[in-house]
Amino acid sequence: MIEVENLQKTYHSGFFMRPKKALTDVTFHVPKGVIYGFIGPNGAGKSTTIKLLTGLLRKDSGKILVAGFEPSKVESRKHLGYSPEQPYFYDYLTGRELMRFYGRLCGLDGKPLEDRITWALSLLNADKDWIDRRLRTYSKGMMQRVGIAQAILSKPELLILDEPMSGLDPVGRKDVREAILSLNKEGVTVFYSSHLLSDVETISHRVAMVVGGKIVREGTVDDITLNTSAEYHVHVAA
Ligand code: ATP
Repeated sequence: MIEVENLQKTYHSGFFMRPKKALTDVTFHVPKGVIYGFIGPNGAGKSTTIKLLTGLLRKDSGKILVAGFEPSKVESRKHLGYSPEQPYFYDYLTGRELMRFYGRLCGLDGKPLEDRITWALSLLNADKDWIDRRLRTYSKGMMQRVGIAQAILSKPELLILDEPMSGLDPVGRKDVREAILSLNKEGVTVFYSSHLLSDVETISHRVAMVVGGKIVREGTVDDITLNTSAEYHVHVAA
């Protein structure tokens, strides 16, 4: 579902700023139907990789295919749902109004749209009174739930979530984990990032660990948890 090979990306932020190499060599493959955890400490290159996968940034070199298409091609986006690390929302809308806005962008309307919104919210345990309140009053956990709910409205084949558990309390983490598991049972491939191994180890089939813009380990959850948790925690602490 995702093929990434020798991916490189450097940011050029301005004349007086040194170029910043964010990805020096990133290679990994995500098979169809799996839950794939992408872990690494702050600044490791997780969000940069995700922005390249979703076509928000352009690569410098290397190969990226999403559902067989380059991310710049509109076909790749038809297969993809994406929730960014810090979802940007029109904060004068209510959660439900925002869902309607995104649903219409996916070509839904009327009863099919309302049914899809009800399905997405209940999956995230977000079918509560607060969904009709304005987004500016939302906590981080409420925002994350709405961010993920909008990403699944189109029932994508591939769901990409940038740090979906960041800032969530234990109940929120459990809700997001259960939603990921339930979507995966329906055949959705899920790629999600976290800086915590504990967020990904219980539900991921495979994990890649990125440190300093490079993949330092890739494998099954057992490969990663048994062999490298000490190495990872050294990197996180560094
Ligand atoms: P975090 O967990 O903190 O979100 P991350 O693993 O997602 O980190 P990235 O956001 O991909 O890491 O950042 C990788 C590197 O690129 C970091 O050193 C970061 O400072 C740098 N970087 C990210 N965005 C930009 C930008 N727009 N301009 C310049 N440098 C950037």
